[in-house]
Amino acid sequence: MEQRVLCPRCGGNMTYFIEVEGGNSKRVHYYYKCVVCGYKLDDLVLVVRRKDRRIEIEALEPQRQLVYPINVVRK
Ligand SMILES: [Zn+2]
Repeated sequence: MEQRVLCPRCGGNMTYFIEVEGGNSKRVHYYYKCVVCGYKLDDLVLVVRRKDRRIEIEALEPQRQLVYPINVVRK
């Protein structure tokens, strides 16, 4: 099932992006970006830290509450 997310600003199709930043502790940003107007909507941020020999992953959901009101169209 394909899922389309529409831009809350202009109604255009939004594309899902994954972006990694940082060195020792990495942040992985998951977000939607509108291909028409460039509007960005954060979905999820994962913070990955190295602690001794373990890897710690913390999930931040910065604007999760904003994701629900937008239009999700299922085909
Ligand atoms: Zn847009």
